[in-house]
Amino acid sequence: VEDVARTFDVSAPWLNRVLERKPRQLLHAVDGVSFEIARGQTLALVGESGCGKSTVARLLVGLYAPTRGRFWFDGQDAHAAYRSAQGRQLRRRIQMIFQDPYASLNPRWRVEDIVAEPLREHGLLRDPAALRERVGQLLRSVGLSPHDMVKYPHQFSGGQRQRISIARALATQPAFLVCDEPTSALDVSVQAQVLNIMKDLQRQQGLTYLFISHNLAVVRHVSDHVGVMYLGRLVELADKRTLFAQPRHPYTRMLLEAIPKLHATGQARTPVQGEVPNPLNPPSGCAFHPRCPHANARCQAERPALQTIGGVRVACHAVEEGRLR
Ligand code: SF4
Ligand code: MG
Repeated sequence: VEDVARTFDVSAPWLNRVLERKPRQLLHAVDGVSFEIARGQTLALVGESGCGKSTVARLLVGLYAPTRGRFWFDGQDAHAAYRSAQGRQLRRRIQMIFQDPYASLNPRWRVEDIVAEPLREHGLLRDPAALRERVGQLLRSVGLSPHDMVKYPHQFSGGQRQRISIARALATQPAFLVCDEPTSALDVSVQAQVLNIMKDLQRQQGLTYLFISHNLAVVRHVSDHVGVMYLGRLVELADKRTLFAQPRHPYTRMLLEAIPKLHATGQARTPVQGEVPNPLNPPSGCAFHPRCPHANARCQAERPALQTIGGVRVACHAVEEGRLR
């Protein structure tokens, strides 16, 4: 992903008339985001809601086109491919798992038809017996039984439904899965089961994941690298171990301090300080400066660029200046 940006025109003509504002109001949902994911690895994107992580997910699967920048997949410009005759082939290789397994499965369809849908859509298997055989295999790969294929989504728990979504996403034998908060709608006890299935599948099939989450405990469990987003920008990108052991960006530090300590019962965790600013009217300079304990005049005036400092990519003047270690 190379310098990708996406703006949305969120002008409401009636509102502009009332407020006498300029007619066009642009939301910079993602602004100059760059990262790589090595084959077979997981990059997690974290940040509070509204930071642009879901927009990145939608850009990668071709639901949105970027306003600027490129997404290279296997050396191929993915958005050029999405618009061309190769788009179908690419959609087969890049699949998405959504947050809500209650909303993403058609309640009127049997599991067999849900999981077989991508196979039918891409014309990969037509013979009914072969289709059923393949659906059975896919269900088994996510820890469900082939007998489950005659049932309907409402007959399953949330965790089982998310397994069905995963089976469906794997039907076309993708190389890359974009997972947008795949376990956030599930009970904590079920989350670990689904995450472990995803890790097993990754090992067995060499899958590459982009894993989006606001939950750093989950991210710690699944990722190899972590990117932290704030108001549409990446503010830190590091391998998981380094990020958790030695966070550099003040926002990353704040997020880490807010993780509840499992064994320190009764000890209050530090909440994430302050409010996310309005993305339609982002603060000047470093967008994090109104919430940052290390902000100074330069931070208010000048936007820090993401640069490599001590082997980590971080966008912060205080880190760059050595004021913050
Ligand atoms: Fe804080 Fe300044 Fe660094 Fe932004 S650039 S995170 S305001 S110290
Ligand atoms: Mg989201």
